Order: sequence, then C-alpha cells, then structure tokens
Amino acid sequence: MTVMEQVTTVAPNGKERRMDSAADIWARMPTIVTGDDYVASLRGRGTTLFLFGEKIDEPADHPIIAPSVNALKASYDLAIEDPELATAWSDLIDARVNRFLHIVQGPDDLLAKHAMQRRMGQITGTCFQRCTGLDAISVMHSITFDLDAAHGTNYHERFLGFLKEAQRHNILIAAGMTDPKGDRSKPPPEQADPDLFLRVTGRNDRGLFIRGAKAHMTGGWNQHWICVLPTMNLRPADRDYAVGVLVPGDAEGITYVYGRQSSDTRALEPGSMDKGNARFGGQEVLVYFDDVFVPWEHVLMDGEAEMAQLLVSRFTSYHRASYVCKTGLGDVLTGAAAEVADANGVIGAAHVRDKLVEMVHLNETIYSSSIASAARASQLPSGIWMNDEMLANVCKQNVTRFPYEIARLAQDLAGGLMVTMPSEADFRSEEIGPMIERMLAGRAGVRTEDRLRIMRLIENMTLGRNAVGYLTESMHGAGSPQGQRIQIMRGMDVDAKRALARALAGIDE
Ligand code: SF4
Repeated sequence: MTVMEQVTTVAPNGKERRMDSAADIWARMPTIVTGDDYVASLRGRGTTLFLFGEKIDEPADHPIIAPSVNALKASYDLAIEDPELATAWSDLIDARVNRFLHIVQGPDDLLAKHAMQRRMGQITGTCFQRCTGLDAISVMHSITFDLDAAHGTNYHERFLGFLKEAQRHNILIAAGMTDPKGDRSKPPPEQADPDLFLRVTGRNDRGLFIRGAKAHMTGGWNQHWICVLPTMNLRPADRDYAVGVLVPGDAEGITYVYGRQSSDTRALEPGSMDKGNARFGGQEVLVYFDDVFVPWEHVLMDGEAEMAQLLVSRFTSYHRASYVCKTGLGDVLTGAAAEVADANGVIGAAHVRDKLVEMVHLNETIYSSSIASAARASQLPSGIWMNDEMLANVCKQNVTRFPYEIARLAQDLAGGLMVTMPSEADFRSEEIGPMIERMLAGRAGVRTEDRLRIMRLIENMTLGRNAVGYLTESMHGAGSPQGQRIQIMRGMDVDAKRALARALAGIDE
C-alpha cells in the first residue's frame, strides 16, 4: 500500500489546509462504469452538506436528495442502454466515453448531444444536472487555448490533462458560475463583503486558495468535480475574481447548503402517488468555498480578466442550446395531458386535440431552434465546435416562455382535481378509500389510481418539485430572459435589415 505524504499549510483564513496535488486527488477518485457504481461513489466522501439546518451524513441516501442522484445515474444507465446516443469516440484517450465528457468535434456531435439531452428529459422528467459540466469543459477547451495564445501560459495542456483523467475515470463535473453578486450596482472589489464574488485569496508555489460562494449550483453536490468559472464581464481591477479552477467536490473547506424545492417534503412521506414523480428530481445547492486549495495543475485561468466576457458568452452559446433538455420534459407533459384527457373520457374532443397540437408545436419550436444552432455551429481556434450564438439565444428565449404555456395547457386538460384530490393516505384508508375510488373514477376501463397518478405527475411538473426544473429553471437557468435579449440585440444587425427594406421600398433611389 502506498501511503501518500500529506502536505499542509495555513490558508489566508488562518485554517490548516491540505495541499493535495492533482495526482493525489485522482488517486482517490473512483472509476465508474455503471449507474450503481456512480451512486456508490457518492457515499463516504465526508463532505459537509446541510439540509433543514442539519448536517447530513450520507446525502445520497437521504429521501429528498436521492431522486436527484437517480437523475444523474440515468446518464450512466443510458450510456449502457443506448451507446450510439449517449457515448462518443474520444481521440484524447482512444476509447469510447460518455457523451457528457466528450469534446465536440463537429455539428453532428452537437446534434447528437441535443438528441441525448431530449432523451434524458423524457426519461427523468426533471433537470438531470449533467449539462453544465459538459458545457463548462467545452468552453474551457477553447478559452484555455486562447489564453495560451495571448499570454504564453500552459492552461490548455493542464485542461487536456484533466479531461483525459476525467474521461478515464468516467466522472461527473458540475459548473459553478453564479456568484451571489451582492449589490448589483457595484463591481466585485467594491462590495461591502469582498467574498460576494468568488476570488483568489492567496497563492503559493503549489497552488492557490479560493473564497466565496457559487449560488444555485445545479447538481453541485452530486458530482465529483466542480468547474469554478467567473460569472460575468470583469475589469483589470477585478483580476483576483477572474479565476477558473477545477475543484474536487470533497475538497477541504467546501460547505454545501441544499436548496428547497416546492413540495420537497412529500419525499419524506410514505407511498409514491403524492410525489408525482417519485424516482427523479433536480438539485440546486449553495456552495461556499472557505479558502479551498487548488493545485496549479487545476488552475485554468488566474487573473486574465479580459477573457471573462468571452468565456461567459461562449458558455451561454453552449448552455442556452442545452436547454433543449426541456423538450424531453415537454414530451412527458404532453403525454400526461393526453393520458388525463383519455382518463376523463374526452380524448376525442376537438378542443382537446387542438390543445395537444399546440403543446407539440411549442415544444418542437424549442427543439428546432436548438438543433438549428447545432447545425449552424462554427469551429473555434482550439478545434472545438460551438453552437451558433444567435440561434442558441433564440432557443433559450423560447424556453423562458413556451414551457409556461405548455404547463398551462396541461393544467387546463387536467382539471381542478389535480390540486384538490385527497392524499394517498386517504386513498389507501380502509374506511374512506373505497368511496374515494368510486367517486373519483373517470371513464370505464381506467383505474382511478392511474387517473390520480397522472394528475399528480402534472402537478409535480407544473406546481411541485419538478416545476423548479421545468418552469423556473427554464426562466432563469443559463441567464434570465433579458440576458438572451441583450445577446439577440447584439447580433441582430438591424441596419442590414433596414437596408433590405429601403432597397425594396425604393427609398435609396
Ligand atoms: Fe441540463 Fe437542462 Fe438541467 Fe441545464 S436545466 S443541467 S441543460 S437538464
């Protein structure tokens, strides 16, 4: 057995910190093949995670957290069940890898990625949390390359070294981008608390220390690594905030605080009916980094503030098209609406069919803008391909609106019983259960329980736990609607359009 020497130091906050090298960290990382391997890899990590004010010993086994672990597990299972869709050949390690760890080599790779994301949404009916990491490594492939070209650094080599290990170990990477931001009118160093934007607090010959938080990090605890990136445009004076690093999820000094979701305590109740979707859920966490040490091998940006804006805009080009994930959820919700209409005996009604057509039209409009952005991808100097920026922003702008209308139509077809029906405990009661079963029956041939279950699923996706993923995340994830409108405005070239109009109207003549 090799006993590794532990090197420690006193961090800027006065606390002792281990200074693990990249090799030390990879030595303790799992190598994952199956979904079950993945779930096992989350146990015994010794992380600090709080939920309802209590530290949770084994978060992966907590009933509120387990559904979010299941959603990521599905990405491993899909790679085994459908390797054509969910794996790709990696020239980096000469082996097939999970598509969530694959570097995009052309428009076809992006098309396959978006098809996989839709399938994952269909399987889980929620946010499966893995795309932020994929989009973070995609953007850092090109940004590290461009930084090296500008500054003579060796970030790209570090990045490729990390990615090869990540592919070999088949691990998960979360993206930490959103700083708490404090007073939005003030830049990072002028905040009342300088840690309101994550920053470098110290450097030594082995690496650097970071302090601050990343808010609503998708699947933040469920993944083995966190790719920490700047959140917005930065000025030269903000150089300590221009930091891009790779941090193991079990690093010393990280505290996770689990975000609440609507109706999340239903996961603590017995039975599965009232949960709507008992197996899968999303996860958002507040992650605090208290002078966490990062070895130089895992530093991909340190002080190059001028690159922050480009980094963010490339990330959004990938991630705003990744919101095609919601079309998978739209498929589930449209199916649920058809099921409930059938259970109610009205599936043949013209207005019902018209509402289903509208749901599909809206859903496919989202899909079309996503795959159009993939088909129109362009190659960056590092060799990676990136979604068309305008079309990716149009996709995400569609996502801020259409799922709300799809949800409205699903609720319209479900009827008010969706929110007034008795609990599963009443339904199972010997005393009143038979009466409920009789009185809440739909058309002959459909079990009352199935009718109620499908209504609970619609409740789950439009009001309950997975409405976080289907609706509010659609609104604010990858940037709120105004963020896309700004990008669309930047690229819309209205002068060229005016020239077209003037030419046809004969104005210039
Ligand atoms: Fe992936 Fe969609 Fe969740 Fe983002 S919101 S991580 S794109 S499933």
